[in-house]
Amino acid sequence: MNQIHHMNFGWLHAPPFPPASCHGLVVQTNLSLILVDTGIGMHDIANPEERIGVEAIQAAGFQLLPQFTAIRQLESPGFSSDDVSDIVLTHCDPDHVGGLADFPKARVHVSAEEKHNLFSGNPRYNLTQFSHGPRWVEHALDDSDTLGLPSRSVITASGLEIRLVPLFGHTTGHCGVAVIREGEVLLHVGDAYYLRDELNNPEHPVGQLATLRADDNQQRLASLEALRRLVSAEHPNLSYFGYHDVTELPPNIERYAVD
Ligand SMILES: [Zn+2]
Repeated sequence: MNQIHHMNFGWLHAPPFPPASCHGLVVQTNLSLILVDTGIGMHDIANPEERIGVEAIQAAGFQLLPQFTAIRQLESPGFSSDDVSDIVLTHCDPDHVGGLADFPKARVHVSAEEKHNLFSGNPRYNLTQFSHGPRWVEHALDDSDTLGLPSRSVITASGLEIRLVPLFGHTTGHCGVAVIREGEVLLHVGDAYYLRDELNNPEHPVGQLATLRADDNQQRLASLEALRRLVSAEHPNLSYFGYHDVTELPPNIERYAVD
C-alpha cells in the first residue's frame, strides 16, 4: 500500500516577507521511503556558514530548526536514514538539498540539465552540500507524457510511478515531480511559482523576486504559462502544490510562529 505524506522540511523567513515553507513529500511504499526534495538538513544546522553561506542565510532567512529536518521527522515514528531508498529533487538550490547528507545511501534523482548546471560553476549552488558524494541518477530523455507535458519516468513501483516534469527556468534544469497513484496525479511544482496566486495574477509582485532568482527568465515564464494551461484544463485527477507557499501546506502541519 503506497502512501503519500506531505511534509515541511524547514522554514525560511526574511522579513518583511512572510515565512516560506519547504514543502516536500515522503512516499511510503511496501519496500522503502522516497523523498521529494529534502529541505534544510542537520548538517546545515551544524555548519550553516560553510554549507549555505552567510549571504544566502540572511537573504532567504534560513531558520536552523532541527525539529523540522526530514531525518528528525522520520525518526520520531521509528524510521532511520537507511529506510530512504530514493530522493527526487526538483533542483539543487540550497534550501532544497540540505537534507541530502542525512540520507547518504539514497539514490538521488535529478534532471541531467540540473546536474550539469550544478557542476558548471553557477554561484547559486554550494557544492559543500554535496561533499558526501550523493548516488546520482540523471534523467535525460523525454520518454513519457503527463497530462500533456513532456516528462521523464524516474521510479516505477507497484501501483506507483514518479516522473520528472521539466519546468525549466528557475534553474536551468528545474523540474516538477509528478507522483502518480491509482490514476491520480499529484504534481509538486517546486519553485515554478513561489506563490500559487502567481497562476492567477501574472503581475504578482513576488514575480520580481522570481525574475531575479531565475537562471533563464524567459524559460521560467514559459514554464509558468505551461502550468497555467495545465491547471485551466481542469483535469479532475490532478492536484498540485509548490515548495514555498505556506497556504498549500495541509492544515495539520505546524506553522512557523512569527515573533
Ligand atoms: Zn526554493
